[in-house]
Amino acid sequence: MFRPPSRARVLRIRDRLREVYGIPRMAPHGRPLDELVLTVLSQSTNDRNRDVAFLRLRERFGRAGIDYYEVLDAPVMEIEEAIRPGGISKVKSARIRQILAAIAADPRDPEDPLSLEWMRAAPVAESRAYLCALPGVGRKTAACVLLFSYGLREIPVDTHVSRVGTRLGLFRPGAPFEELHDAMLALTPPGEELEFHVNLLRHGRRTCHARTPACNECALARMCPSCGLLAQPSRQQSRHGG
Ligand code: SF4
Repeated sequence: MFRPPSRARVLRIRDRLREVYGIPRMAPHGRPLDELVLTVLSQSTNDRNRDVAFLRLRERFGRAGIDYYEVLDAPVMEIEEAIRPGGISKVKSARIRQILAAIAADPRDPEDPLSLEWMRAAPVAESRAYLCALPGVGRKTAACVLLFSYGLREIPVDTHVSRVGTRLGLFRPGAPFEELHDAMLALTPPGEELEFHVNLLRHGRRTCHARTPACNECALARMCPSCGLLAQPSRQQSRHGG
């Protein structure tokens, strides 16, 4: 029977992660459409190809920033050509157009619908529901848009955050992503959304790997109920980086 962690335990984990990774500083960038488009571009590819595709889109449709009205009006073939290095460009260009068209059709801000500026002051639940109703947009993407663009109280739970949090006993094992997002919000102190997300993510990338977590060098080992229960990298694997 899973019991949610106590507040004291959550704070101990936060403090330990903070000792190792510090407090991330990243001011909200105010560009929600960039966040949405980056999510589409990141499907089935690595970060590098995603970024190349994004930069090409910016070169083709703007300079300092992408003019999304221009993207919306362009033939889909032009978008496809610009983002080709990101892979499955036919699918992605169509999806980008669908998202932009859906936002442009929204009467909430008839002067400048693609700015999504209304989200700055709207209740988070309303913005989340709006974003999740867009084509192909789920809870994690909506959380990225709200947290990274406007610094609002949402927290993306990706595979790293989900894995590390579950191993540390923060989440119910096997919980679906919708529940994980709610649980993450419930346990994170207000104002620490970015820190919790980034530091769990860093820990997942650097130490608590999916298949072979390095428990023997983990700063959270003493407070982790999963410590040593999962496969450790053999000496030979460690030596040869495999
Ligand atoms: S002790 Fe192991 S399972 Fe627990 S957080 Fe650290 S690396 Fe992950």
